[in-house]
Amino acid sequence: MSLDDRAAALDATDPLAGFRDRFRLPENVIYLDGNSLGVQPRHVAERVRRTVEHEWAEGLIGSWNAADWIELPRTVGDRIAALVGAAPGSVTVGDSTSVNLFKCLAAAIMQRPGRRVIVTEETNFPTDGYMMQGLAALRPDLEIRAAAPGSDPAALVDADTAVVALTHVDYRTAALHDMDAVTAAAHAAGAMMVWDLSHSTGALPVDLAGCDADFAVGCTYKYLNGGPGAPAFAYVAPRLGAVRQPLSGWMGHRDPFAFAGAYEPAEGAAGFLCGSPQILSLAAVDAALALWDHVDMAAVRAKSVSLTGLFMEAVEAECGGHGLTIVSPRDDARRGSHVSIAFDGGYAMIQALIGRGVVGDFRAPDLMRFGFAPLYVSHLETLTAVRTLRDLLETGTWRAAGIPSGPVT
Ligand SMILES: *Cc1c(COP(=O)(O)O)cnc(C)c1O
Repeated sequence: MSLDDRAAALDATDPLAGFRDRFRLPENVIYLDGNSLGVQPRHVAERVRRTVEHEWAEGLIGSWNAADWIELPRTVGDRIAALVGAAPGSVTVGDSTSVNLFKCLAAAIMQRPGRRVIVTEETNFPTDGYMMQGLAALRPDLEIRAAAPGSDPAALVDADTAVVALTHVDYRTAALHDMDAVTAAAHAAGAMMVWDLSHSTGALPVDLAGCDADFAVGCTYKYLNGGPGAPAFAYVAPRLGAVRQPLSGWMGHRDPFAFAGAYEPAEGAAGFLCGSPQILSLAAVDAALALWDHVDMAAVRAKSVSLTGLFMEAVEAECGGHGLTIVSPRDDARRGSHVSIAFDGGYAMIQALIGRGVVGDFRAPDLMRFGFAPLYVSHLETLTAVRTLRDLLETGTWRAAGIPSGPVT
């Protein structure tokens, strides 16, 4: 069967095909960047409008209770908990992923007095490393021990290790860590485990309770489609009880409205809230997450594997001889939901693709990154993206798309 026939057949039997219509996809765009900023679900604008015009404009301060604003960090957290194998009440939403990672790392270090090492890897997302460096600036005795590319971070864990902090799906290559094995290795050495699930949540099944992670953080504006800069989540294993973290703002207090002088953390993830919740953004995330009540995560994973697999197969079959190197794992079990291709002209090629309506992104020094959000990307679009890439390579027109200037995000 030709790739085209196969793609058409896969789309015809796709159990998630009905979701595409729930998103505001621009005309004539193949959007392969949902791993960076997810597409807007249709019903989100209406929800945000209601929050702005009814709850805020008319309800004013009464809406903290009447519209349950005060509970949003927890109710949105419960929606995310269902997607990451976490018990209700063990996830809260607020602040950014960077800030939540700081809270989790610091909490883990405070739980392991006498230990001074954070184990991570050099290829972790930069903000994760930067937050570790910020913590080490406060605690100069801390050592950040980062595994070199391709080496196993678990091999660096020892009796001095307070915490192992890794991103589940690598933002560059899409390589996937084995959460069970790494968490078990951290625990075997007496260390705590923090997972960054930014590139996992909404893209593949995650089982935080099953792997017994201590903490996790993640992003809501990528595969969850919560909107630009949408607040991030934090998970705290319920077995840890009330955990002290240093950004001890009033919303994480066990009784914020007692206005007591001394800080006492609320139990678990509730104690990881800090200041007032970002209600407008939370309303958008809440609405976006409502879609997921109807999503079978096993079907999401199956389609993700199918889309990324088809993309790589088609690139290899039709774009050979132009110096492209697929850097994402070929083994389905080892790959997240995007595919990265190293190419010397990567920046210009991505600009040329965007000019032709195929939106991916570029990550320095030479990676072209294509994300496959299973709720709205089809197999036929995936093939069309490869054909566009092939056409640009064969005609050489991508060279006219220029060189980087200014920030590339
Ligand atoms: C996207 C992403 C973030 C985002 O951090 P923010 O503070 O929310 O901007 C963090 N970590 C990883 C691994 C990411 O992929």
